[in-house]
Amino acid sequence: MERIARLVRPNILALQAYSSARSEFDGQAEVFLDANENPFGDSLNRYPDPLQQELKAVIAQQKGVAVEQLFLGNGSDEAIDLLIRIFCRPNQDHIITLPPSYGMYQVSAAISAIEVKEIALLSGFQPDVDQILATATPASKLLFLCSPNNPTGNDFDWDSILRLLDNFPGIVVVDEAYIDFSKQTSCLELLHQYPKLVVLQTFSKAWGLAGIRLGMAFASKYIVGLFNKVKPPYNVNRLTQQAALEKLNDSIAQEAIIATLLVERRRLREALNQLPFVKEVFPSAANFLLIKMEEPDRCYRFLADHQIIVRNRSKVKQCEGCLRITVGQVIENDRLLSVLELFKNKLTA
Ligand SMILES: *Cc1c(COP(=O)(O)O)cnc(C)c1O
Repeated sequence: MERIARLVRPNILALQAYSSARSEFDGQAEVFLDANENPFGDSLNRYPDPLQQELKAVIAQQKGVAVEQLFLGNGSDEAIDLLIRIFCRPNQDHIITLPPSYGMYQVSAAISAIEVKEIALLSGFQPDVDQILATATPASKLLFLCSPNNPTGNDFDWDSILRLLDNFPGIVVVDEAYIDFSKQTSCLELLHQYPKLVVLQTFSKAWGLAGIRLGMAFASKYIVGLFNKVKPPYNVNRLTQQAALEKLNDSIAQEAIIATLLVERRRLREALNQLPFVKEVFPSAANFLLIKMEEPDRCYRFLADHQIIVRNRSKVKQCEGCLRITVGQVIENDRLLSVLELFKNKLTA
């Protein structure tokens, strides 16, 4: 804990967290005249539980962690932003990212005037562990590992993750937004061994709830305490907490959906590999495929002209010539494949 405290910005260590009237009261209240709420209404007139205790109890139980090891945010994007604000001193510290990867690390850092040191992934899209460790200094506060990685779709090797956890001087953040589509073990099982590990997961992908904005950060109790100190008091609203609880109660249905998406991922991959203009479909442990092809920009526009929107990554370093395509429902994937068939005919015409 002392080791972690040394990484925290001094103003955050010194910060007195906002305290609401309700968090100062610990009894069974029946009349709520403390928060200037409107007394008329059917519960949405009341502020939400700032610590989301009912929801956290369910998630913590399912994930096998203590409630105090869990932070919930307005998407994992909020957790990313808070991590930067907790640990990085503007214009002094930096974060390390491994491009090509998720764009929000960079954006959140830029908003906070934090430098980003980029260490490109090796071929096979694996982390360059030696280069990362050679670059790291005491000002390297956060290392973002995205596994499975967006947009490349692969898992990072377990050994690389362990070497980084053993040797990186700052906080290691493993973004597991896509872990439910992967065969790889979650880093959650390493939490008890590594107090400087933060694991991010989200309700936006496998759980099918991108619209409610709910992200999870798992970490040591000390780091979760820092999150709680810095977060806006009511960062997860009542409707979101309710919707997540309902979905968690129906996890069997969710597992069936994930299984369908995995079957579709495989079917799409095989069909795409048959197209002559497709050069490579990268292996994916996520719910999308990265596809290297001839004429990616023309293909992107052709799909758009047929009302299909995909992600054009063709200008991204190491993803040259690539589109990133999310695995959709069966009829959506069928439609994608039939439009790509038209594109094939157009190319050869
Ligand atoms: C989609 C995604 C997220 C999810 O962000 P939310 O704010 O939880 O919706 C996080 N990380 C990566 C790498 C993603 O692709």
